[in-house]
Amino acid sequence: MIEASMLSGALHVLEAVLDGIVQHPWLLVPVAAALLVCVVLASPAGGACTSRDPRRGFSAAERRAAFERAGLRCEHKSIFWHRCTNTPTQGDHIFPWSRGGRTAMSNQQALCPFHNSRKSGSVPTRMYILRLQWRRRSYFPDGESTRIQWRPGAAA
Ligand SMILES: [Zn+2]
Repeated sequence: MIEASMLSGALHVLEAVLDGIVQHPWLLVPVAAALLVCVVLASPAGGACTSRDPRRGFSAAERRAAFERAGLRCEHKSIFWHRCTNTPTQGDHIFPWSRGGRTAMSNQQALCPFHNSRKSGSVPTRMYILRLQWRRRSYFPDGESTRIQWRPGAAA
């Protein structure tokens, strides 16, 4: 009986929503725009290509510089607010080298072994790039660019 009344309540809500849409179809415009933004941000960042940077790995000095600019802390952050507290030991290509990402400081992040192995060769979403650039503003040294550039030919 409880389930039947819940179903009835849900149908009333659905009916009210559909009535609202029929009477005010312009309400769909902001909803569609919000959905479009979500789809774009959740899609993989563009720029994948078959050509690869001739240099595969970061040098020890580049890795060390990436660890220091990250405050000697893994740069991974969960969906909400917790940033990993592990010490980074690996320099990760944000946009994977195997997909055309360049070996440059602007395409490197400092990760702990656990988060580097979890990320593996996955192409980051646009939202991942934007979030990383945004939160780097809070811990990168002053004057250090937080911009992530992975395409061949971009500035270092
Ligand atoms: Zn980590």
